[in-house]
Amino acid sequence: MLKVENVKKAFGAATVLDGVNLTVSPGEVVSILGSSGSGKSTLIRCINGLEKLNGGRIAIDDFDVAKPKELAEARKRSATVFQLFNLYPHMTTLQNIALAPVEVLKRPRAEVEQEARALLASVGLSDKVDAYPAHLSGGQRQRVGICRALAMKPRYLLLDEVTSALDPEMTAEVLAILAKLAREGTTMLFVTHEVEFARQISNRIVFLDKGVLLVDLPTEEFFAASGGLAQPRIAQFLSKMK
Ligand code: ATP
Ligand code: MG
Repeated sequence: MLKVENVKKAFGAATVLDGVNLTVSPGEVVSILGSSGSGKSTLIRCINGLEKLNGGRIAIDDFDVAKPKELAEARKRSATVFQLFNLYPHMTTLQNIALAPVEVLKRPRAEVEQEARALLASVGLSDKVDAYPAHLSGGQRQRVGICRALAMKPRYLLLDEVTSALDPEMTAEVLAILAKLAREGTTMLFVTHEVEFARQISNRIVFLDKGVLLVDLPTEEFFAASGGLAQPRIAQFLSKMK
């Protein structure tokens, strides 16, 4: 289980996460919605151990990300895809995907490359195995980014607005891959502005507002008039998304 317990994070005088509690169990898809600046990316960075907490605790399968000796184990269990395509420009798609399994997990290159080819095939990019990122479209790069995360065989896949830099057609390509992963039972924590898509694939929706987790509800309750929509702040947010 991925557990976020009473997490507080401040940058100087600004409190960005204010007592956030959240759990993600294996097999669940949980979406995080919230306005720009509400703290979504900061929460993902805290889960990765990229930010030092000012309070509370984050543990991935009981490995505490704040403890240097446990962080490596915690990081092996999760992988993150970010908004901007952060592929290495001097490496082919195959090299980008194989890098961490070979260098970090010390797995045999031949076996890893075979898996990388299968991953590329599963996202429709068999013909781009030897292409460099500069020669891929944004949607293709983001699909390679997802393959690179999956190559680590994470128990938890974290996605931070992976489609927000893409045009509608490329967004659809990437969302189709994520929908497939959700159907296959991949555990995901999904930060997104794609409200309708979140509704289709999520078991639960959480809503962050100025660093406070306002609600954490099963998806249909979130969208029900008596559930999340009963919160004026959420109703206002959703009305702007349409
Ligand atoms: P968006 O939807 O625009 O991606 P977000 O919900 O991901 O927004 P965050 O990036 O988590 O928001 O930022 C939350 C707040 O923390 C913002 O006010 C931001 O300016 C601030 N912040 C984030 N990172 C830092 C930092 N390294 N130093 C100072 N302030 C920061
Ligand atoms: Mg963000």
